[in-house]
Amino acid sequence: MPVTRKRVGVLALQGDFDAHAKAITLAGGEAVEVRTAGQLNSVQGLVIPGGESTTMLKLLNMMNLIEPLAEFVATRPVFGTCAGAILLATEVLNPSQQSFGALDLTVERNAYGRQIDSRVASISPGAEFQRRAGEGDVEAVFIRAPIIRRVGPAVTVLASYDGDPVLVEQGRHMVATFHPELTDDARVHRLFLSKI
Ligand code: GLN
Repeated sequence: MPVTRKRVGVLALQGDFDAHAKAITLAGGEAVEVRTAGQLNSVQGLVIPGGESTTMLKLLNMMNLIEPLAEFVATRPVFGTCAGAILLATEVLNPSQQSFGALDLTVERNAYGRQIDSRVASISPGAEFQRRAGEGDVEAVFIRAPIIRRVGPAVTVLASYDGDPVLVEQGRHMVATFHPELTDDARVHRLFLSKI
């Protein structure tokens, strides 16, 4: 019997979308690069990659994708990593900027500071993640990452680092402040695929 893979879009305007496409494939999905509203409408879920959230906003505006993306977020699952997490929050600090409010979060951009702004850490996800995604620590790559300063009551924290949430979900949406696409551990992407 042919296996139908889930069609997962990766917003491919800027940032490390190629690494996400590989991670989606590794997790068993079909990765589709998304640059137009038509491509967006052809996918069942969407990953917004890391990169520079301000640049992504500019490009979304230029490509007339703000409205289509807002409509997509209202009905289908979206997973944002790092800059993608910033775009999906309800409130952005440092400085404040436009965002899609898919998850009830306040995020502070570039919150780890300049000198030690990038690092690789081993994090221990909570029981909910272990049950649904598999056991064991996750290697988390942080690159000029935001810090989630507030989570609303509807948000579930799946993993924390240094006392701050770094992997969270709210309903069909998920956000990571680190880069699961930069390791060959497919558990985080598989967890997102399970939401589609
Ligand atoms: N610092 C970036 C921003 O504010 C995010 C960095 C990343 O995605 N790795 O958009």
